[in-house]
Amino acid sequence: ESNRRPDLLEGLDPEQRAAATAPRGPVCVLAGAGTGKTRTITHRIAHLVRSGHVSAGQVLAVTFTARAAGEMRTRLRQLGVEAAQARTFHAAALRQLRYFWPRVVGDRQWDLIEGNKLRLVGQAANRLGMPTEVEVLRDLASEIEWAKASLVSPDDYPAVVSRLNRDVPEAPGRLAELYRTYEQLKNNAQLLDFDDLLLHTTAALEEHKAVAEEFRDRYRCFVVDEYQDVTPAQQRLLDAWLGGRDDLTVVGDANQTIYSFGGASPRPLLDFTRRFPEATVVRLERDYRSTPQVVALANRVIGAARGRPAGSRLDLVGQRPDGPPPRFAEYDDEVAEAAAVAGRIRELRDAGVPASEIAVLYRVNAQSEAYEQALSEVGIPYLVRGGERFFARREVRQAMAALRTAAAGEPDGDLVELVRRVLAGVGLTEQPPSGGAAKERWDALLALVELAEELAATTEGATLGRLVAELDQRAAAQHPPTVEGVTLASLHAAKGLEWDAVFLVGLAEGTMPIQHADGNDEAIEEERRLFYVGVTRAREYLSLTWALARNPDGRRNRRRSRFLYGLIPEDHPAARVARAQKQTALKARCRICGGPLIATMEIKLGRCGKCPADVDEELLARLKEWRVERARELKVPAFVVFTDATLVAIAEQRPTDDSALVS
Ligand code: ATP
Ligand code: MG
Repeated sequence: ESNRRPDLLEGLDPEQRAAATAPRGPVCVLAGAGTGKTRTITHRIAHLVRSGHVSAGQVLAVTFTARAAGEMRTRLRQLGVEAAQARTFHAAALRQLRYFWPRVVGDRQWDLIEGNKLRLVGQAANRLGMPTEVEVLRDLASEIEWAKASLVSPDDYPAVVSRLNRDVPEAPGRLAELYRTYEQLKNNAQLLDFDDLLLHTTAALEEHKAVAEEFRDRYRCFVVDEYQDVTPAQQRLLDAWLGGRDDLTVVGDANQTIYSFGGASPRPLLDFTRRFPEATVVRLERDYRSTPQVVALANRVIGAARGRPAGSRLDLVGQRPDGPPPRFAEYDDEVAEAAAVAGRIRELRDAGVPASEIAVLYRVNAQSEAYEQALSEVGIPYLVRGGERFFARREVRQAMAALRTAAAGEPDGDLVELVRRVLAGVGLTEQPPSGGAAKERWDALLALVELAEELAATTEGATLGRLVAELDQRAAAQHPPTVEGVTLASLHAAKGLEWDAVFLVGLAEGTMPIQHADGNDEAIEEERRLFYVGVTRAREYLSLTWALARNPDGRRNRRRSRFLYGLIPEDHPAARVARAQKQTALKARCRICGGPLIATMEIKLGRCGKCPADVDEELLARLKEWRVERARELKVPAFVVFTDATLVAIAEQRPTDDSALVS
């Protein structure tokens, strides 16, 4: 069997091959982004299976995001070992818990808390007379999550946070009480939160000998990708899985630790050889993902990091042919930035880059809106990655209900035909709608058809019931089927993934690094690592953009991200353009204070952002409205009626130098 596909190890370099072919036992790969860590472990799994050391069903591979787990499954399938499991820690725990639950707990019904967690935290806060505003609750909830991921009980919480000198959103004693009350309310309602999945599964394995034996008999070989982001709760579950055995392969990059605010730590990765002195250790330096231009930028980004742990100081060496230099651009506001990015994406698509090979990455999910809008306007399909969003979509829920009903009736005939027929009932037309939200709904439904096609191609006698089961599993694991389109994702969700073209947007102070990291060195370093993760997602084309104001009439007072200093080359056209723009702008003067005007809107209004006090904003707004009405009356475009400068003059009760109609 091992000879049937000799290509398996050919696609690996000598170090990767050493890790892939190491005998069963502890293996640790410490290496930077794009050096082939994920590739190495998937090949290792395939190699162990093909050479008969382990059967695919005995392998459990875990990682941290649903997308990364999905990516691993895809690669395993391509290598012919689809029976090996690749899941997130949470999805693996959920599956095991479902299986063991009756034996561990009896027949009491428990439910996953899912969306209504904040409500429960709110109830607990209310009971204790604590504030219940949503933003506050969100902070309190994530603090409870941190405690649970760090294996800190309510009793220990105050002492632990004082020892760690941790920045907490409430007095530690009060928070401990909130945490305790939340746990009580949750247990009384027979609900489990996400963190409970890990804790209960660990407890089941630690406390029930028969369960542990059955589990350890079933799974014998463990693999962890992105090990730098393991939390104490996950590590403890991993230890319970191992039960003293050492068949564990871990790969990671300490420079990509991006969840330490949630309790993750690169320590277990960096201390792996102390724990397993006999481990095979491999370091990789060759970057196969990105062009030398992107690699050079990535090295500079992480080279500026402070307090890097020993063992993480590696410079990547690019292996690919040269590509275009990274592009830097500054915009007046986020709307202009999004429009420019959408325009650039259209150019790339026209040049032959498929939409699915393009990603727009941002710091917080709220930033996606501007890009959804801008891409819709130029008619480019896109997909917002949040994983869960796909299954939360109305048409997908309708489609799943319809498929379930159909599956319960007659599963006969060609699967794909059947799925098409059922989905026609929920809006899958023959021809795609031309664009906008309708096209997006259509794309989501089409993704279900494509999944059915994939299933039919890979599984003998695939049925509708089997498809529904697959969809249920994917929904639980938040692993949506791929929809052809530009990816819009947060930097956190982009970890481990890659695209030909990557747009890192919103690189302004307050967004990247995020506001609340300011002044906290550790938090800033985590933001820098997040930026590094973003930069290293690009294979070839990398664009870095930022805007000086949030919206067109906002004040242009934002500064470009501190992470960009030293990255923009002085002779780079973007830097020259920025300088040229500044020089033009310098000529414009505020008509109130005479100072320089910088933002486009300032130039339009003829006054600087510092002088708004002289303007009656309300009157200005009314005048603008009036301008629109008057333009309608005159049947001319609104801009013909009055210029903004005139409106300002009117608002300030100064004589206007232009008459009512200005072209
Ligand atoms: P990250 O830290 O971002 O998760 P990684 O180390 O896991 O990165 P991979 O995703 O495994 O890197 O590999 C990056 C890219 O390089 C992939 O497209 C992979 O197929 C390719 N690659 C890896 N090793 C080789 C190799 N030896 N030859 C050719 N291509 C390779
Ligand atoms: Mg990887």
